[in-house]
Amino acid sequence: MILGIPKETNDRRVAFAPATLAKAVKDLGIECWLESGAGLAASFPDGAYSEVAKVVTRAELFQHSDIVVSINPIPESEWKLLKKEAIVISRFESYMKPEVVGKLQEAGLRAFGLDMVPRTTLAQSMDVLSSLASISGYKAVLLATHYFPRYFPMLITPAGSVKPSTVLVLGAGVAGLQAIATAKRLGAIVEASDPRLAVKEEVESLGGKFILVEGAKDDSGAGGYAVEQSEDFLQRQRVEVQARAAKADVIITTAQVRGKKAPMLLPAETVNQMKPGSVIIDLAASTGGNCELTQDGKVISHNGVTIVGNSDLSQELPQDASFLFGNNVLNFMKLFVKKGELAIDESNVIIQQSFITAGVTA
Ligand code: NAD
Repeated sequence: MILGIPKETNDRRVAFAPATLAKAVKDLGIECWLESGAGLAASFPDGAYSEVAKVVTRAELFQHSDIVVSINPIPESEWKLLKKEAIVISRFESYMKPEVVGKLQEAGLRAFGLDMVPRTTLAQSMDVLSSLASISGYKAVLLATHYFPRYFPMLITPAGSVKPSTVLVLGAGVAGLQAIATAKRLGAIVEASDPRLAVKEEVESLGGKFILVEGAKDDSGAGGYAVEQSEDFLQRQRVEVQARAAKADVIITTAQVRGKKAPMLLPAETVNQMKPGSVIIDLAASTGGNCELTQDGKVISHNGVTIVGNSDLSQELPQDASFLFGNNVLNFMKLFVKKGELAIDESNVIIQQSFITAGVTA
């Protein structure tokens, strides 16, 4: 059985780092092929894979691979180049675009959606969303330090004292918690808001102050994800946020509701009250943004406030993003590849949720 790793399109990451591919060969009993140049932008040249993988062209890889793993789905125009009934493993976003499942089935492919793996303790080691979100949260803070014209920590120097900066984090999921931890490590004062009360303790254990907004909807049936809040709740939250935004130096926004438009938490009116030099990093940019003024994929300046719209900052740490993504996928593949053979147990709950084309098996 051949596992193929293609080069990503417009992405510096690669699905497997060399060390993880070596483990895949050993633990899964498979052969690995890599498209030439696939790891280069993540600082893994072809030579780093030479002992564990056969380096081939894209056409050869598609023609011979039984399983193809990629961070972003292979472009639809190339599906016909794959083997019939090949297994493709990627983030298909089928929760937002259910039509992708029918298209994959029509193309005769069997697909596992990495973004459908349940967010449970059992599946934690397979959770690519957490690995990538955590990197994004870390990088969001570093990016903020790049645009922010002041220090984060308090400093007492012979030339005078510098006050610590205040960082406000909206959304304390995986990315938000990593942003809180990173900003604290850099010496900032951190505040955070999230409708899920369950994260209050986590925010506080990282040294952040939790901003409580009463009356959030119960999310216990949403598989760990947040539910859409009422307009009344969001309005009260915006008032709480506005009071703090005026004093904040940096705002990192990560608030998302899976499969829905991101909640708008920072209207233009709030940004207008922020201090010149302040920075907003909007990680929810691709789903509409948490700030009304965010432009996805752009850095803009509004009355002296820098607003960065970028939902995929894990691309900016491509080597570790690739390493962690591959480790997650290897743990996931151990569920259904044993001694070089496929053994898909459809009664396994992780398989049930992620095998999005189930029913078209050979
Ligand atoms: P996400 O990216 O879907 O959302 C980010 C955060 O935005 C969430 O914390 C959400 O509550 C918050 N949010 C939504 N509306 C908001 C609003 N109006 N204001 C402020 N914040 C708002 O979340 P994620 O980081 O992918 O995590 C999703 C869930 O999965 C979380 O509950 C997380 O704890 C859970 N999880 C569990 C595991 C595990 O047990 N293995 C692993 C990872 C994540």
